[in-house]
Order: sequence, then structure tokens, then C-alpha cells
Amino acid sequence: MSRIFDLLVIGGGINGAAVARDAVGRGLTVYLAEAGDYAHATSSASSKLIHGGIRYLEQYEFRLVRESLREREVLMRTAPHLVFPLEFLLPITADQPRPAWMVHIGLRLYDFLSGRRLLGRSGRLSRAAMAAIPRFRKGRARAVMHYPDCWTDDARLTLETLLDARSRGADIGNYRRVTSVAVVDGLYTAEVESHGAQETVRARSLVNAAGPWAARLLGTVTGADGQHPAARGLKLVRGSHVVIPMPEPQETRAFTLQNTDGRVVFVLPWLGRFLILGTTDVVHQGDPASVQCTDAERDYLLACYRDFFDHAVGPDDVVWTWSGVRPLVDDGSANPSEVTRDYVIDLKQPGAGPLVTIYGGKLTTHRKLGEHVMDTLAQAGIALGPSWTEHAPLHGGQLDRAQLAVLAETGPDLIAPAVRQRWVFTYGDVTRDLYARVLAEPALAVEVAPGLPEVELLHAATVEDAVTAEDFLYRRTKTFIVLDDAGRTAVAAWFAARNRRA
Ligand SMILES: Cc1cc2nc3c(=O)[nH]c(=O)nc-3n(C[C@H](O)[C@H](O)[C@H](O)COP(=O)(O)OP(=O)(O)OC[C@H]3O[C@@H](n4cnc5c(N)ncnc54)[C@H](O)[C@@H]3O)c2cc1C
Repeated sequence: MSRIFDLLVIGGGINGAAVARDAVGRGLTVYLAEAGDYAHATSSASSKLIHGGIRYLEQYEFRLVRESLREREVLMRTAPHLVFPLEFLLPITADQPRPAWMVHIGLRLYDFLSGRRLLGRSGRLSRAAMAAIPRFRKGRARAVMHYPDCWTDDARLTLETLLDARSRGADIGNYRRVTSVAVVDGLYTAEVESHGAQETVRARSLVNAAGPWAARLLGTVTGADGQHPAARGLKLVRGSHVVIPMPEPQETRAFTLQNTDGRVVFVLPWLGRFLILGTTDVVHQGDPASVQCTDAERDYLLACYRDFFDHAVGPDDVVWTWSGVRPLVDDGSANPSEVTRDYVIDLKQPGAGPLVTIYGGKLTTHRKLGEHVMDTLAQAGIALGPSWTEHAPLHGGQLDRAQLAVLAETGPDLIAPAVRQRWVFTYGDVTRDLYARVLAEPALAVEVAPGLPEVELLHAATVEDAVTAEDFLYRRTKTFIVLDDAGRTAVAAWFAARNRRA
């Protein structure tokens, strides 16, 4: 017998996660299907910023910037273990394409629109502070401005949003691919391939949160009239990042570099040991699943960095690259950097309840997007409780940063202090569950690879649905980047042995 839900969500990236969480908290029964691992596509390939997007002011995207700026503080409050303030430095150069006055006005506007309480305001560095920036090329900038934004772990933000939805009763699953949806007797009837098995799920309403696949997914949906709902045009724009080791002396602030081609490139400190350089904007023609940083993109990012910093980095210094495809609403802009970053929520009713498709969007605005989708469902006649996500702590988000520091200090001696420190800013208050598990079974403190007690892998597999070593190393944690080959192989062997037993 197939089950009937109020809402079927297709896609376990940040937007599907936000919709599922909001909906279940408003009283709907929810089923979410993610074809791969949670956040394996765009939602783990972002620049990891929770930001207003200062450059979008140039495109007059005031609505988007205002919403994004306000979301920074909401997310800092509700997910203090995952969303952290980050100070940005913005050099003003003689050869920059936009006039200095425009940058000054932009920063003022940024302060004004933000409604900030937790974050500071923008300003200008003193000459002495400017001269003290490590490796910054002397004379490269006439002035250096500073402004606050935030950063996060995009994959974990998505995961914690999904776990939150599950803790409220949603049926959430990864490795569940929706192969077709047909309207039968007024219900969306979806065929789902789930971990090798076939399942039929019926629902009164449907949200298509398939990101870069959103338009393609509509081709697998058949309305009561036998037709596929019409899709809007999506422009797929690839963005790549490269990671290099952070040189000494360390710089913990980020940089917004204005490249001579008019684009903005970020230099972001990461995990206390690396710098992320990103990103690019290249129209992507192929399958959104196969994206890679090209040599040309890598060289472009390194050249921009070297233009501002006296640090001779080359391709051999790159320790990792990643790329993602922005699923942007095609607004006719010829320049991929200028295509709108705002989202569109499209409603159809193909002989059943509402079918909502999400086009575009940002990591930063996911919670607000969830609210807008709920408004759309309500307009289409779905009965819903009031909005609630603005003040509710996210899964793992019950403790503030000071309390998290105490939790790290006071954990069991069986676990190394550095591991406890990493845990609290990965699992938040759920770190207590890992402590309890290891105290009940001390053998689980034994490390599978350096810095990885077995209890953590077990937690990922049993609570966070990690199925493969890649799920764990790249998305539940970012430990792939600090482990050597032997460590990564040990984690892979652990998951292989567990999957054989299952
Ligand atoms: C390079 C780059 C940098 C960015 N930087 C930032 C940033 O710093 N800050 C910010 O706020 N935003 C940023 N963004 C934007 C942000 O990452 C995206 O807007 C967001 O991740 C989109 O999420 P999504 O859920 O819509 O899509 P996705 O994360 O792609 O999720 C869609 C999911 O749908 C699933 N799916 C597809 N078809 C099916 C099916 N048939 N059955 C089941 N599941 C299916 C896919 O497997 C996929 O996981 C950036 C984007 C890129 C590409």
C-alpha cells in the first residue's frame, strides 16, 4: 500500500530541506526524496557565505540583498554552531572598474539595509592597519574598506535542516530518486527508487526543489491532462573554487577583490589552515552532475590572488578544487555574472493540489524561501500553521558559542581536546550524544583514522544517513582535507565493512 502525505518534496539540497522543515513544523505530513546524498549538488559547492551579496546592489537587487542581510543574523542566532561572523576587507584600487564613490555608497546601503544587531558596521582601515595586512602588495590599494558578513558549512547547514525536519516527523531520505510523477485520482503519485528498492508515494501537493534539474524534473511529471507542466528557462552558471594552504603569518579576515574584468573574487580563510579562492561565472552547457574546475578557471583565480598578494602560488600549490552550477532564472542577461541571483516560486495546479517549482535562490535565503513557499501553498488552499522558523534553533543549535566552548572543554578525556573542539562546531549540542555513546562504550573512542574516533563514523552512519566514505569525509565533515591517503582509505574500509554487514 502506498502512503499518502500532505507534501512531497523532491530534492535534498538547502531549498528542499528548508521547505520540508517549515512544512512539517506547520502541521503537514512530509516526504522528502533526495536522489544522491543530501547536499551533494549545488548545496555543497557554494562559496559557503551567508551574506548580503554586496555586488548585487549593482544590479539593483535591493529586495534580495535586504532579505539576505537580515537572514545573516537570524541564522547566527538559530544555528550558532554553524554560522559564524567573518570580517571582509575590500581594497579600493586605482584600476578598479567601479568608481570608489560607488563602493562607499554600496557599503553604506549594506549597513542601512541590514537591520543588524549582532554584526558591526562597515568602515575604512587606517593607514597603519592597511600596511599591516600580511603579504598585501604595497601601493596596490588607495584604501581598504571593511564590512561584516558570515560563513558556514553549506553541506552541514543543509543536513541539520533536514535532521530538524525529521525530528519533527518528516520522512526524509537520501539515495531516493523520483523517476516519475503522475496525477492519479487527484493525487501526485511518485515512483521512487530507494536504495535499490521501488516505492510508490502519494501526496496532495508537490514541491520541486531539484535545483539545476528543476526544469528537467517537470518533464517526468504528468498532469491529469496527460501533459508535462511547462518549465521556465534556467541558466546554468558554473562557479569554481580553488583551495591553497594558508601561509604564515595567518590572516583570519576575508578579502573581496575587485578584478580588472569587473568581477569580484573572494579570498576566504578556511578551517584555520587554508584559503579558498573563488569564484568564477561560466555558462555551463553539459550535465549539471559533471562539473569540474577547468585549468583556465584555476589560473584565473590564482592570477587574481597574485595580483593583490605577494605570494607566489601556482597550480602545484592547489590542494583541492570544487565546482557547482548555479541554477539561475534566465532573465536574458548576456553576462553570466549579471544574471539575477533572486529566486522565483512558480505555482501550477495540473489537475491536483499545488505543484510548486523553485527556480534559483541562495544558501543565505533558504529559510525565507521556505516561508515564501508556505505562503504559496496557503494561497493554493493548503491549511497551514503560522510561520515559526525565525526564532526556533536549528537541529544542534540549542547552545550559543560560549556554551559550545564549555561543552568542548568538559567532554570526556577519552576524546582528544582538538576533536571535541571540532565536534561542537560540527554537531552543536548533539555533541552530547556522541559523548554519551562513547562513555557507554569506551571502545568507540578508538580512532579509525587520526582525529576520527569510531563513534563519529557510527553517528554519521546511524543518525546522519551517511552511506559512503565520501558522504562522511566531504559532507558530514570536511576531514578529507586533513587526512592523508591512509586515513581516507581507513574510513573507506570502515564504511565498506559496515555496508557488507547491512
Ligand atoms: C559556485 C557557487 C557559489 C555559491 N555561493 C553561495 C554563497 O556563498 N552564498 C549563498 O547564499 N549562496 C551561494 N550559492 C548559491 C547556493 O549554493 C544555491 O542557491 C543553493 O545551494 C541551491 O540549492 P538547491 O536546493 O536549490 O539545489 P541543489 O543543492 O542542487 O539541490 C537539488 C537536489 O535535487 C536533487 N534531485 C534532482 N532530481 C531529483 C530526482 N528526480 N529525485 C530526487 N532528487 C532529485 C539533486 O540530487 C540535488 O541534490 C552558490 C552557488 C554556486 C554554484
